[in-house]
Amino acid sequence: MSWTSERFARIKAWEASREFNDFIDDEAIHQTINEAKNPSKERVLAIIEKARNNATKGDMLSPEETATLLNITDRALWDEVFKAATYIKEEVYGNRIVLFSPLYISNPCVNNCQYCGFKSSNDSMSKKTLNHEELEEEVKALLDAGQKRLIAVYGEHPKSDYNYIAQSVRTIYATKKDNTEIRRVNINAAPMFEEEYQAIKAEGIGTYQVFQETYHRATYEKMHPKGTLKGEYDWRLFALHRGLNAGLDDVAVGVLFGIYDWKFEVLAMLHHAMDLERVFGIGPHTMSFPRIKRTSDTDLSEFPYAMSDEDFMRVVAVIRLMCPFTGTILTAREEPELRDEMLKKCGISQMDAGTNIGIGGYKKHEEGNDLSIQQFAIGDHRGIDEFILSLIKEERLPSFCTSCYREGRTGCDFMPLAKNASIKHLCIPNGILTFKEYMRDYASPEVKRIGERIIIPKYLGMLRENMPLLADKVEDMLHGLEHGKNDCHL
Ligand code: SAM
Ligand code: SF4
Repeated sequence: MSWTSERFARIKAWEASREFNDFIDDEAIHQTINEAKNPSKERVLAIIEKARNNATKGDMLSPEETATLLNITDRALWDEVFKAATYIKEEVYGNRIVLFSPLYISNPCVNNCQYCGFKSSNDSMSKKTLNHEELEEEVKALLDAGQKRLIAVYGEHPKSDYNYIAQSVRTIYATKKDNTEIRRVNINAAPMFEEEYQAIKAEGIGTYQVFQETYHRATYEKMHPKGTLKGEYDWRLFALHRGLNAGLDDVAVGVLFGIYDWKFEVLAMLHHAMDLERVFGIGPHTMSFPRIKRTSDTDLSEFPYAMSDEDFMRVVAVIRLMCPFTGTILTAREEPELRDEMLKKCGISQMDAGTNIGIGGYKKHEEGNDLSIQQFAIGDHRGIDEFILSLIKEERLPSFCTSCYREGRTGCDFMPLAKNASIKHLCIPNGILTFKEYMRDYASPEVKRIGERIIIPKYLGMLRENMPLLADKVEDMLHGLEHGKNDCHL
């Protein structure tokens, strides 16, 4: 209790002296949505055209333009949005999908978020914080499956405070198996003070992710009981501002869809991105859109804003048009069929694969959902190799690239490359190289066959057409990989 009350008092003191201006005006957001109702076809097509042109300019759509797209009712116009989402994604990043796995490290939590299986009042959850050896075992299991990129996830608790988080990141990077290692650790953890961010940054974290869950204050209060740390809306709203102030390079936003009106949430997320741009000159590195799923003690019928698959797809496509330079993450919360369809239509750039969100789940390797150790049920249980097979059958390029972060292309150095759409000239070669390394060390015969015969020649050929010198370099590096080199990247 004393850890929580001391922290609570410090948070209150921070809020009382907050130096950042509020950027969420509930009424103004609702008004923008209402005023954009029943848009004309001409207006919608003009906005879609503008979004396509923004792909190489790095501009975001305005709240009014985004609200107009969200208000489309005509199916044929939605098809135009989907086409534009695919175009923009390919223009900025190319046809590669970056793969990662979530690693749930600690689930005790002092908060009581209504939608979450880790909530403190949930007695059916078995609570566990991985120790050093258990964490190493999880990392080794992920390395055995071919993974190189993780997002480490923690409940908010004294057992998993910033010191524990820093230590766990150190353990992950230090764990080796068969001469390989995890090369990028992103973090999803509760908001922190600036000196705490500095401590975890010192361990070399990649992107730091905090989802606001809902930007709607009244709903936020309902979901996050007063008196809990997470009940402090402003503390969370400015978590990423504090992080960037403290020197974090890349930060990521997200909304938990299903707890409030999705049109409101998309516009609020845009205001968040605009404010980060305004204050720090860089927008969010990624945007996430988890949809609420069942837990061991959640009755989903209590959440009246459940979102249909169709609306979900539309929202994700609009997010791509709204913010062309930002990575978008579609997680294994969703079923394989929906994920596959969204890959075709919604301009997704990152996905998790081989996902197991049970604490200690990768080592245990049990099939299906075990809600006594999971935060929520996931829908896609495909292993990494099976997932990759589904990507390459569609001639997409799977990528385990971690090079921007390791070459210092982060924050203000990364954004211009994404904004003028030149980042794909690095994404594609690095995708080719990391996929080759995966095939050499882990792939099934079928993935190897399609990869070597179709995927590598296809993407290398495209590179040769546009950038022959770079293609020569990549080909040299591919030879290096064939002769035992590791971790070749640009
Ligand atoms: N405790 C940290 C925090 O609150 O920021 C980490 C968050 S949690 C481990 C990761 C995310 O999972 C949450 O931010 C929330 O958006 C999402 N989540 C929670 N409950 C969920 C549910 N029932 N279904 C789907 N996603 C959920
Ligand atoms: Fe704790 Fe995060 Fe779950 Fe809320 S969402 S109960 S803060 S783990």
